[in-house]
Amino acid sequence: ERYLDSIGDQRYLNIYVEVFADEALEQAREQDARRRAGAALGRLAGVVISIKDVICYRDHAVSAGSAMLEDFVSPYTATALQRLLDEDAIVIGRTNCDEFAMGSGNENSHYGPTRNAADPARVPGGSSGGAAVSVQANTCLLAVGSSTGGSVRQPASFCGLYGFKPTYGRISRHGLIAYGSSFDQIGLLCRDPADIALGLELMAGADRYDATAPNRPVPPYSAARSEGPYRIAYFPEVLENESVDAAIRQTTTDALARLRAEGHTVEPVSFDYFDYVVPTYYVLTTAEASSNLSRYDGMRYGYRSPDAGTLEETYKRSRSEGFGTEVQRRILLGTFVLSSGYYDAFYGKAQRARRVIQEQLRGILADYDFILMPVSPSQPWPVGDQIDDPVANYLADIYTVLANLAGLPAIAVPAGTEPGGHLPVGYQLMADLWEEEKLLAFTQAIR
Ligand code: GLN
Repeated sequence: ERYLDSIGDQRYLNIYVEVFADEALEQAREQDARRRAGAALGRLAGVVISIKDVICYRDHAVSAGSAMLEDFVSPYTATALQRLLDEDAIVIGRTNCDEFAMGSGNENSHYGPTRNAADPARVPGGSSGGAAVSVQANTCLLAVGSSTGGSVRQPASFCGLYGFKPTYGRISRHGLIAYGSSFDQIGLLCRDPADIALGLELMAGADRYDATAPNRPVPPYSAARSEGPYRIAYFPEVLENESVDAAIRQTTTDALARLRAEGHTVEPVSFDYFDYVVPTYYVLTTAEASSNLSRYDGMRYGYRSPDAGTLEETYKRSRSEGFGTEVQRRILLGTFVLSSGYYDAFYGKAQRARRVIQEQLRGILADYDFILMPVSPSQPWPVGDQIDDPVANYLADIYTVLANLAGLPAIAVPAGTEPGGHLPVGYQLMADLWEEEKLLAFTQAIR
């Protein structure tokens, strides 16, 4: 009831696309009755969560922040969500996000922008902006989001929270609406890294519906203990880069100094490919998106233009009317990079660049336990400021897309507010593939 009141009092933040008020209260009462009767309860009994509007929940609407799916009701539940429900998690509602998770400010949603609770004139980050503010504004304990290139870490950092994406394949993508399938992962946002460890432990593992989720044992993440001192690498060129906001450089430098003082080894390393990171990411993800989004054709499901006559007209009008500007831009880009004659120059080359980027990062992580770096070069910008400048948004993804390009686990760590200001700041830690146990234990140890 307190969470629902809190949602009611903060409607101006535009956090939720839909609140499941009656259902959530009913679940809470039912659990309470079970508790009173001395019956067994799940590990998430009484834990109220929000789900990003890209996660399927049986018999509930899910729209990916898009007019294309506005009236779509899911016939099944995402595997990761089902595993939380099986432990008695209570879903309070579905959170606003950029359309099809494409964006960095939550300004590309069909339902309008979500606002940052630390400063409602500013963006909360994206694409899981509603997810971040749902925790920031105390409307739930844990938010389930998704990351293709930073959509969990960046909004978490913009809102002063922890935000975690696992190794690619650690959590099943079954029931997560696809954007870039070789990048997409479900992730978590909350105030306490211990909650991330527990959530991951419950959601992770093989799934017969997702062949990219391998049959690898799921360690008891929530019981892991830090075994430092650790070896931590950083990129000095990032700290010297004038285009990175000064408060962010300061936060990163302070975090490194503190860890060095606590006995960890902190050393500079170089990374040769910063110039190629954003282009590689946007070539590959738009290519995958153009393919994934071809299913929204106005025929099988989703929006169908009422004015269309022929089949061809139905495709054209439904897609032109149903998709927003940014989604259409990316479909065009993706279709172009995959077109015959350009395929190898763009898509093939970007795939090779992805491999080179991954190899260098994993080479660093063979010598070091973690890489510490900023989450984003920019602080939350005023709502509306960057809406006409997609390239500015793309460039600001440089430090988060690295982990998704390489499939690595990474976490955004909050570090208070900027000196002399009111906006949250943070930094990120990245670990080698499948090392989330060590990453989450360390994050808790330095809390
Ligand atoms: N901002 C990035 C993009 O627009 C990342 C989005 C995401 O992780 N879903 O593609």
